[in-house]
Amino acid sequence: MNHRLNAFTVDVEDYFQVENFASQIDRKTWERYPSRIEANTERVLTLLGRHGVRATFFILSWNAERLPQLVRAIAGAGHEIASHGYGHQLVYEQEPAEFARDITRAKIELERLAGAPVVGYRAPSYSITARSRWAFGHLLAAGYRYDSSVYPIRRRRYGIPGAPRFPHRVAEGLIEFPMTTWRVAGMNLPAASGGYLRILPLAVSIAAVSQLNRAGHPAVVNVHPWELDPEQPRIGGGHLGGFTHYANLHTTGDRLRALLDRFRFGTMRQTLEHAGFTLEGSAIADPPALTNPRSA
Ligand SMILES: [Zn+2]
Repeated sequence: MNHRLNAFTVDVEDYFQVENFASQIDRKTWERYPSRIEANTERVLTLLGRHGVRATFFILSWNAERLPQLVRAIAGAGHEIASHGYGHQLVYEQEPAEFARDITRAKIELERLAGAPVVGYRAPSYSITARSRWAFGHLLAAGYRYDSSVYPIRRRRYGIPGAPRFPHRVAEGLIEFPMTTWRVAGMNLPAASGGYLRILPLAVSIAAVSQLNRAGHPAVVNVHPWELDPEQPRIGGGHLGGFTHYANLHTTGDRLRALLDRFRFGTMRQTLEHAGFTLEGSAIADPPALTNPRSA
């Protein structure tokens, strides 16, 4: 067992709220879909409980509004509550002022439900990219202390190729904890998160976490509750998004158990503090001064 602490994270969204289906499912129709988020989140909580691991749950406020008891149950089990925004709108498709309202409202609502400061944010579909770096300044101004949205890879909808692969400061007071990659043959290979965790061989995720830990850095594992639900209703046809959404759902639990057995995990907060970062000024009643978003 390696003794470096890694972050275990959960993006709390339902099977019909994912970006892969956004072109087929209008946000306004979300109410029509049978919700499976509570039962599926319970599966994640059980898994974590068995391993004695506390994790960070990035919660969509659309879900928190409708299921306040879910937020209370997660917080009550000792996990960290963080924000995934309100309705899964991509950051670079929002105006900065709209984004600022979204993250401020989400923080206030989640803090009210959790009874604890909310200092972490993860953008829907990792949508802080080169063209939405302005988001860092807004997160800091809204009272967030860390972000975990940057994937240091190149993808059509997300990624900042060449971005650092381990936690670092992106603005005065704001820490970026990038999504985990495996550096191999001069390239960053995505690992240990969502579809990459399910579809690539588990050895890739293990190699990525091990490599970061050996270099003295923490990794982050990420899962969505619907990824533990092979019985979920099927949406759409046989396009690629459908394939990546449904592939290997029956293996997610075993893969997570293998990682939980092999590595040490905690919340984002614990992991950042263990790595030497101070999440200062994170109390609710401590609104920070507005900084210039462009300085990020
Ligand atoms: Zn998401």
